[in-house]
Amino acid sequence: MCDHMIEVGSVPFRVEPKGISKSMISALLGKGKKYGLTDIIPLPTDKIVVAEWVRLKCSYGCSNYNTSWCCPPVTPSYEDTRNLIKEYSLALLLVGRTSRVNFYRDNQSKRAQQLRGWKGTVSIERLLFMEGFYKAFSLVGEGCALCKTCAYPENCRFPKEKRPSLESFSIDVLGTLRAVNIIPQVAKDINEHYSYYSIILLE
Ligand code: SF4
Repeated sequence: MCDHMIEVGSVPFRVEPKGISKSMISALLGKGKKYGLTDIIPLPTDKIVVAEWVRLKCSYGCSNYNTSWCCPPVTPSYEDTRNLIKEYSLALLLVGRTSRVNFYRDNQSKRAQQLRGWKGTVSIERLLFMEGFYKAFSLVGEGCALCKTCAYPENCRFPKEKRPSLESFSIDVLGTLRAVNIIPQVAKDINEHYSYYSIILLE
């Protein structure tokens, strides 16, 4: 057993940041492809751009504001998020592709698409936990779609499964993409495909 690990049962939990191997990324992508993921890109957490203006966009212009346990104002503040991300050293950027047809619609197809992205992300988070990344935590794209209508402000129906959106953590997704040399593009035509993203925080 390496001196940076403590044996607990059959899974050695990690107690020091060690990065993630290419073979593990490849195994995770194999799992993620079932859910439409096309890429998994490791990045240091100091590349994640957190900005106050993101919260402004949530507060003014998003119909999810104050309607979900995974969206502001109940999600962590800008300051809390900055402190929280400092407790992680590594992140995985998960990338998926889908069509734009349902992007602005509030229908079952849109929800199914969101759930597929959520399942892919959370299943990879669980795999990482089983591999000893005990701090693994997912931030998913868009709002929580686990229920047709969120129970908020009544108790969440799936408290163990829910994960907050990237934007609800004041994460500038496009700024983060640029920080890792990905040039994002806007899908302008209804038939175009576009990429969607989630992040798993790790150490
Ligand atoms: S799981 Fe349901 S109740 Fe909980 S945050 Fe998501 S949509 Fe709301």
